Amino acid sequence: MISKTVVKALENFLPAENIYLNEPMSQHTTFRIGGEADCFLQIENVEQLTKVQRYLQQLEIPYFVLGNGSNLLVGDEGFAGVILEIADKMNEVKVRGNLIVAQAGAPMSKIARIAYENGLTGFEFAAGIPGTIGGGVVMNAGAYGGELKQVVTLVRVVDKEGDLLDLDNATMEFGYRTSAIKHQPFTVAEVHIQLQEGEPEQIKAQMDELARKRREKQPLEYPSAGSTFKRPEGYFAGELIMNAGLRGYQVGGAQVSEKHCGFVINTGGATAADVKQLIAHVQETVKERYGVELEPEVIML
Ligand SMILES: Cc1cc2nc3c(=O)[nH]c(=O)nc-3n(C[C@H](O)[C@H](O)[C@H](O)COP(=O)(O)OP(=O)(O)OC[C@H]3O[C@@H](n4cnc5c(N)ncnc54)[C@H](O)[C@@H]3O)c2cc1C
Repeated sequence: MISKTVVKALENFLPAENIYLNEPMSQHTTFRIGGEADCFLQIENVEQLTKVQRYLQQLEIPYFVLGNGSNLLVGDEGFAGVILEIADKMNEVKVRGNLIVAQAGAPMSKIARIAYENGLTGFEFAAGIPGTIGGGVVMNAGAYGGELKQVVTLVRVVDKEGDLLDLDNATMEFGYRTSAIKHQPFTVAEVHIQLQEGEPEQIKAQMDELARKRREKQPLEYPSAGSTFKRPEGYFAGELIMNAGLRGYQVGGAQVSEKHCGFVINTGGATAADVKQLIAHVQETVKERYGVELEPEVIML
């Protein structure tokens, strides 16, 4: 429960219309699953972010930073605390020569489009990843041989105390779907992306080709959170799951996609409990059959 006093205090930091109480998280995740958050804030700029974060830290109120919710499973019981959404209202993208400076809420698809419009190459791989650049750097998002590690030169974060800090590429310790800030109370405010000059037609052709591959291989017609599991060393999660006979396996509204077994999809009305039960069954079956531990890529809240 968030008290009236806390809501009043938050109104000093951001407009009242950006503050929502008892907000269904199913409306803010690509899985379309999740109970209510006690309080949901749409952040517009770094100033609001630093003030809100400092205040919540001081009062020891739990909070969680949300991007586009495209790698997230929120529990059916929701979130007892404050969600700081850094997405649509904080999504400015600027081009300075070959450098792109993006606010954390900018969708990677928007950055890819702007890169193309400015004849900059190196970001085509990320055009179809449905997350924000803030969520992207936390996860070191990647696809088709590219990953953010290759192009990100600086990540501006707000730390626990509400102070700004610049982290360079090495300090970010990017790894496979992880980074130094994945388990740290840092909020991404801005990201610098270094690209190269390229041929607009080639950039466009590459983005179109990758989009075609996605549409062909991935169950984009259903809500999901993308690949449910990380790629285990030496294997493909989807292949192991398919070979274990789990294609189409269903718990309630959650299903192992028939189109791509690496995706758990919401066929309609799935609960977080359905998804968790399905994930546990897949993990057990694959472990039993192949001795391989599947680790979820999806973050559970
Ligand atoms: C159809 C589909 C296809 C996908 N394909 C790919 C793919 O090809 N490659 C890939 O890597 N991923 C893929 N994903 C997963 C997902 O899009 C990425 O992981 C993406 O980077 C998540 O960004 P987001 O803004 O949605 O983050 P969220 O899901 O909102 O959050 C993810 C994590 O990042 C944290 N976070 C978000 N924003 C911030 C911020 N500003 N500061 C600090 N922490 C933050 C959250 O707290 C959470 O821990 C796919 C998902 C879907 C649904």
